[in-house]
Amino acid sequence: MRGLLPRAGAALLAGAASVALAQQPAPSGPTPAQLHQDSVVRALVARLQLESYKATIKGLTQFGDRRQGTDRNRNAVDWIEAQFKKYGCTEIGRIKYEFTGQQVKAGEAPRAPYRYADSPARKGFPVKGVQTATGVNMDAMAQPDTAIRRIDAQADSPGPREEVYCTKIGSVHPDQMYIVGGHMDGHGYGQAANDDGSGTALVMEVARVLLAPDVRTDISIRFVLWNNEETGLNGSRAYVAQRQSLQGKEEPAGSGRYPEPKWLGMIQHDMMLFDHGMPKPDGTMPKEQRPEADVNIEFAGASTLAPESQKLAWFFRAANDKFALDYPAAVGDRMSNTDSDPFKDITPSISLRENERLAQIGTGWDPQWHQVTDVYTTYSDKDFLLGLNAAETTLSALALLTNATLR
Ligand SMILES: [Zn+2]
Repeated sequence: MRGLLPRAGAALLAGAASVALAQQPAPSGPTPAQLHQDSVVRALVARLQLESYKATIKGLTQFGDRRQGTDRNRNAVDWIEAQFKKYGCTEIGRIKYEFTGQQVKAGEAPRAPYRYADSPARKGFPVKGVQTATGVNMDAMAQPDTAIRRIDAQADSPGPREEVYCTKIGSVHPDQMYIVGGHMDGHGYGQAANDDGSGTALVMEVARVLLAPDVRTDISIRFVLWNNEETGLNGSRAYVAQRQSLQGKEEPAGSGRYPEPKWLGMIQHDMMLFDHGMPKPDGTMPKEQRPEADVNIEFAGASTLAPESQKLAWFFRAANDKFALDYPAAVGDRMSNTDSDPFKDITPSISLRENERLAQIGTGWDPQWHQVTDVYTTYSDKDFLLGLNAAETTLSALALLTNATLR
């Protein structure tokens, strides 16, 4: 598999040491081929625009919190598919599965806010600094905006579910792909603007750029918008259950078509906007994006593919160093609670976020998380810009990994 990767990708994936080396110009300076590749990546990154990213998030918020098992969720799936068509995607599919559970069981009391210090996930590493309670808002009437309250009114019901994906077919290796994901469902009676409109829009914007008719990639890329993340990663688990065994199979034989190209990596995006730092001692949050805000790239240190996933994480960090324009990235080993989890023992898997999921978001660094305040108008351009920088990170890393070229 490694031998089939484009040269730059293979060199960079060969080890963390190579990643560090690749960032340093060789004593003789970069080769003309490297300079050309850099210019292609920069041209692609320049096609990401803050206003376009914001417009896609806003488009998603017209469907409120997009709770699974509701009309507003199904309408959002249709809307995402319509955008893929507008971007020129011809390879669109849907995963279909049953979800028999419910977001909120009838008569269930609102879950009490909990502190991360008390949660089983804390086991194994220390929590430091100020913590505030987190939880899920389950009170529809807590939404003060009556227009949003109306959109979020319908309760979910068990039954069939769908999630949409679009594939850019690789010109040299159509039988191999990277999976790029975010989850389009949300909850909490807001607009799920950050969790996870911000990751969904990131995936769609990167797709828009790479689907342009003048862009070619050697390797395939699949853009997937998971459903049912908030009920326990049910959409991504359904994908793995249905499609893991189909990897790399040509269907029909001799057609040159691969309905499920072999997985080379899975890159998840979940909550991309808000890095205002730790809560203050009185429990309130700083009003502004902190100047040292960063993109957190996490892999699962406790997975069987931890070494390979770590290499992928450092590869993304190197891409951020070189091509993202405003905010840096940091790597951590505690990927958790998102749709890359079901993939982590099968293919190298990472997630990109505004903060670390367990030690930071889990301890109250994002007060909008699953609350009525997760609406579009909560966020400033400095917040949206952090999400855009994560998009620049993912787009540039993907362009290198798949050897993107411009006609
Ligand atoms: Zn999420």
